[in-house]
Amino acid sequence: MLIGIPRETRPGETRVAATPETVKKIAASGKHTIVVEAGAGIASSIPDAAYETAGARIGQPQEALGADLVLKVRGPTPDELATMKSGAVLVGLLDPYDASGVEALARSGVTGFALERLPRISRAQSMDVLSSQANIAGYKAVILAANEYGRFMPMLMTAAGTVKAARLLVLGVGVAGLQAIATAKRLGAVIEASDVRPSVKDQVESLGGKWVDVPYETDEERQIAEGVGGYARPMPPAWMQRQGAIIAERCKQMDIVVTTALIPGRPAPKLIRADTVAAMKPGAVVVDLAVEQGGNVEGSEAGRVVMRNGVKIVGLTNLPALVAADASALYARNVLNFLALSLNVKTGDFALARDDEIVQATLICENGQPVAAK
Ligand code: NAD
Repeated sequence: MLIGIPRETRPGETRVAATPETVKKIAASGKHTIVVEAGAGIASSIPDAAYETAGARIGQPQEALGADLVLKVRGPTPDELATMKSGAVLVGLLDPYDASGVEALARSGVTGFALERLPRISRAQSMDVLSSQANIAGYKAVILAANEYGRFMPMLMTAAGTVKAARLLVLGVGVAGLQAIATAKRLGAVIEASDVRPSVKDQVESLGGKWVDVPYETDEERQIAEGVGGYARPMPPAWMQRQGAIIAERCKQMDIVVTTALIPGRPAPKLIRADTVAAMKPGAVVVDLAVEQGGNVEGSEAGRVVMRNGVKIVGLTNLPALVAADASALYARNVLNFLALSLNVKTGDFALARDDEIVQATLICENGQPVAAK
């Protein structure tokens, strides 16, 4: 079988779907030819020669995209899709909630596996690209905030006087939020955090943060807040309103706010209104990690840092791509672990593991048709 690793072509995408470490494992059986497009790893600090040493051949884009099995980070562009062959297996972040994109993939005849649809079961943790990349985004969000903030993060006592520690609020404490708390703690910030899921309170406190509670007033609110399969669900308007009022009060005290709240397949919940931003301290920084899903913050703009009433709102997108080498290393291991459900790396035998619930959950198109989520 020919296995292709194309260079990613979406603007700002620096990651690559395989590294020399994973190529070596996929190539170990000697049964498959691996073609890495020339320059595919360079933005992740991986030269072509390192792939060759690991057992791959360096090739043209048409060869990598035209393979039987194509490993990618982002879904193919229309041009890339036109180069792929019908019946090829494609693995990557294929944007399964974009119905017209999935239709286009299906029409091309590829068998597509969208890693965003991995079930959140313990067996799938080693393949969980959303977690591995969200972890990086949470880290980088705090580093970007520190960069934009015109003061120190830690408390300092100097001969010229004392500098106060920054106060930092994290909204949405999933994988990205927890890493944002851990990173900010290492930098010396004083941290508060909130989430719709009550189970997160202990995790916030164990990382040294203070929990900001938004109480429930009905059983319905409590039930919705538990989420499904580890994911949040949209909260009723009454709860969102109470949350908005509590968050507005906390934001007035904050120097930095990092928002990470997402609901899969839906627009991100609006957690910070424009009037809340307007009431924040001059020099405060807000980082909106949900900006690509419509944003948690009113006034944030995808791909930009904007100033609103003296407050900077950072809306940079694809933060994992700013930590390209580690993001690729973790992503590539996730992909290899997913592949290992169908590929015996020792013998080289390959057969799609159709009975496996992980394989079933991630399949989004086959035989020219989209496959609905189970
Ligand atoms: P996510 O990226 O979908 O959402 C980020 C956070 O935003 C979540 O904590 C969510 O509850 C929160 N949120 C949504 N709406 C909100 C609102 N209106 N107000 C405040 N917060 C809101 O979530 P994630 O980081 O991908 O993971 C969610 C959970 O799943 C985590 O607790 C994680 O530990 C768990 N998880 C389990 C597995 C596994 O078992 N295989 C793998 C990964 C993650």
